[in-house]
Amino acid sequence: MPTSLLHIGMDDTDSPRGGCTTYIAALLVERLLELGARFVDHPNLVRLNPNVPWKTRGNGAVCLRLDCDPALEGAVKEAVVEAVEANAEFDCDNTNPGIVFHAGEVPDPLRTFARRAIQGVVALDEAETLIEEHCASAVGYKNMRGIIGALAAVGERLDGDHTYELLAYRTRENRGRRRRLDAASIVEMDRATKGETFSNLDPETGRPLIAPHGPDPVLFGVRGESAEAVHRAGMMVETGEPVERWVIFRTNQGTDAHLRRLTGLSDLEPYNPAIVVGEAAARPRTIPGGHVICVLKDDTGQVDCAAYEPTGSFRDIVRHLIPGDRVRAYGGVRAPDREGRKTLNLEKLEVLRLAPDLRQVNPLCPECGGGTESMGRGQGYRCRRCGRRHRGLTKRVVEVDRGLVPGLYLPPPRAQRHLTKPLERYGKEKSGYVPGGLYEPWHWP
Ligand code: ATP
Repeated sequence: MPTSLLHIGMDDTDSPRGGCTTYIAALLVERLLELGARFVDHPNLVRLNPNVPWKTRGNGAVCLRLDCDPALEGAVKEAVVEAVEANAEFDCDNTNPGIVFHAGEVPDPLRTFARRAIQGVVALDEAETLIEEHCASAVGYKNMRGIIGALAAVGERLDGDHTYELLAYRTRENRGRRRRLDAASIVEMDRATKGETFSNLDPETGRPLIAPHGPDPVLFGVRGESAEAVHRAGMMVETGEPVERWVIFRTNQGTDAHLRRLTGLSDLEPYNPAIVVGEAAARPRTIPGGHVICVLKDDTGQVDCAAYEPTGSFRDIVRHLIPGDRVRAYGGVRAPDREGRKTLNLEKLEVLRLAPDLRQVNPLCPECGGGTESMGRGQGYRCRRCGRRHRGLTKRVVEVDRGLVPGLYLPPPRAQRHLTKPLERYGKEKSGYVPGGLYEPWHWP
């Protein structure tokens, strides 16, 4: 039977009141398998630029990649449209679902578009032109914005570094209620799968991080390096409520895919993630709310870098910077303020070089070596130990211990973005993806 590749991208079906595009994907897994389609990859969960202002939560889009008999294509497309129409949160103003169908290999312009949607901001008409030129068809609802994410999900083949997430969903009657998960089983799962899963617990608070808090249908998600690892880990989580279904997604979470190196601070643009190198221009300041602001400068300009209150102990690292420190800053640029000033919200900070912290202190007593105190402006110093007075002494310069060493610093996992590569993933980056069938089992039921 002749078959052909069919990629199905979907996005923007949820609202703060509920829903989740991954859940529609999970429903479709079952439906499309029933129809006779064969999945050639795990469903892909593609996180796009986390700094776009109109995202609901984590700016996630989904792509299903199938091998399907061309005679089935009509029924498959119908099932997808039906699932989106039955489950998307159409009532929410900010929900603008989009579906993109693409047949055959993914052409380069779609891959480039995906990269730009992960690392920057793209326009709807660019997506529409590409769909017209390359794709079989697309369905957009309301202001159609969802087709941007749907097309980007199709275009991102996740053929560089990638991770996996097993997402388990709640039954309808439990949605909106407090999630019932056994914390001890999560601690045990984390211990048993160390190195193979990540961001299960927040080490500072001991709080489990695998469950969201909103009304969406996700019960929990376990992130890891392989489908096997997230499956093993997911099965260890004990729940006090039934699991309706689960699916293992392949994703760009935890890979830093959004961060692009820029050559100068003047290249920073609102809503864009970036990596820049600069020098601290002043001592950081703490502003109301407990946020810490540090000004970085280079030959092209300067920018405020912000470590927000929820980043906890990460703020202490930023507070330790002094003028002259050279750092690499990773983060996303906020909307410009009224004066047009840009702020980079820090996701990571790499201290490259520390400036010496030189301070002027009172001289030592030349007679006994004791500490001295000033006798008043221009009056000289008196030894605290032997009491002798010295008129001609001046302050001396000492180097103070910085209490900070060069290296990479991240906020605690509870404050990290989905795309941020956590410390525990460093050294585990995958250089590619070899399509070779799916791990079994990759979904239930
Ligand atoms: P999640 O499914 O994790 O909850 P989300 O709900 O946070 O994701 P969406 O509701 O999908 O985000 O809203 C994001 C909207 O922004 C979508 O319409 C998407 O097409 C669009 N979008 C995503 N990335 C970009 C980008 N880089 N440039 C322009 N528009 C984007």
